[in-house]
Amino acid sequence: MPDETHAKNQSRLTGQSIIDSLGVTSLINAGGPNTKHSGTRPRPESIEAMEAMSEVFVDMDEMLLAAGERIAELTGNQAATVTSGASGGLVVQAAAAMAKGDPERIAQLPITDGMPNELIIQRGHRFVYDHLYLAPGSRFVEVGRPTDCTLKEIEATIGPRTAGIVHLESPFKEHVAVSLPDLANLAHEHGLPVVADCASMLPPRANLTKFTDQGADLVSFSGGKAVRGPQSTGFLVGKPEWIEYARLNNAPNPGVTRAQKVSKEEIAGLLAALEVFVDTDEQQETDSYRSQMNFVVDQIAEIPGIQAEVRHNYDHYIPHAVVTFTENWRGPSYSEIADRMKAGSPRIYAAVDYREPSQVMWIDPLNLQDGEVEIVAEQFRKILIEAASGK
Ligand SMILES: *Cc1c(COP(=O)(O)O)cnc(C)c1O
Repeated sequence: MPDETHAKNQSRLTGQSIIDSLGVTSLINAGGPNTKHSGTRPRPESIEAMEAMSEVFVDMDEMLLAAGERIAELTGNQAATVTSGASGGLVVQAAAAMAKGDPERIAQLPITDGMPNELIIQRGHRFVYDHLYLAPGSRFVEVGRPTDCTLKEIEATIGPRTAGIVHLESPFKEHVAVSLPDLANLAHEHGLPVVADCASMLPPRANLTKFTDQGADLVSFSGGKAVRGPQSTGFLVGKPEWIEYARLNNAPNPGVTRAQKVSKEEIAGLLAALEVFVDTDEQQETDSYRSQMNFVVDQIAEIPGIQAEVRHNYDHYIPHAVVTFTENWRGPSYSEIADRMKAGSPRIYAAVDYREPSQVMWIDPLNLQDGEVEIVAEQFRKILIEAASGK
């Protein structure tokens, strides 16, 4: 039976019918593009592009080269390439720093005998995903203290085994370490690349070129967060020489990154999402998120023991309704509140600041669909009022 006839004979699938058949319950995602809560809703243009791309076959090297050129154009960078999420980008960054374009070294990884395999990282830049940098066989040389580091200390750690220097831009990272421009100058004096993880730093859209302008050689962004491409996609932007090394070290070539392949459909879906993302009026988008978050804050502002406000800054990439539990709060911990939101009906995922001993949670409007902000605000208010009264 041809595929088209087969599709017509099926009863219409919905997201609900799929999870019903599996016995899985849906949730409202009010916590942002967190992978464990299924990321983001891909843009309709992205889904449409994936479906259309399934109609044709291509040579993947040609497709990836062309997609990289398109991403470079769209983002205003010299060069770019597709990765399997920003995490896949980190693996490729490390492999590129060690093996560059040498086919024997590329094939040899994760065995790093005979090549520089050390990545310098400031202690304040260690974070939950950084083990991806170690996946192709590299090791970290940590420098400084969790809250600060000097350029001199970094320079003292550079040696013959150094392959590159890692830089992190992420909400809630320590802001007191060495600046990216200073780090890049130092690295380049020693002929080393700076590889940057900036996975969740979009929007603002200005960040698409900010970190490359500041001297990073390879910058990893997620395509499955606010860009709203396929969850599994990401992209690297950077200097042409380093993007080429990254591409040579990346799937579909055999080697350590083979497990990170990105399908032609996902590539097309990422390009379509990026096109819409860079074309969207950021001020208008921000205003719309802000008015939704003002609505949430208004619903809960009077509850005793909490402080609620809209925040939009380095730590909050779009306007968020942030709740701080003050010393006057008499209810259970913030994580218990988040658990109650998730156990409610409907189930709601809200974000919590994982850093102890902070007592902060927030609502993120990125994944809210029409009518959901009212449901989230009402449920949040109800749970907070109950908890404030000691229940
Ligand atoms: C989200 C994130 C990642 C992982 O990105 P994926 O696209 O989900 O692979 C890596 N690093 C940081 C700092 C992140 O915020």
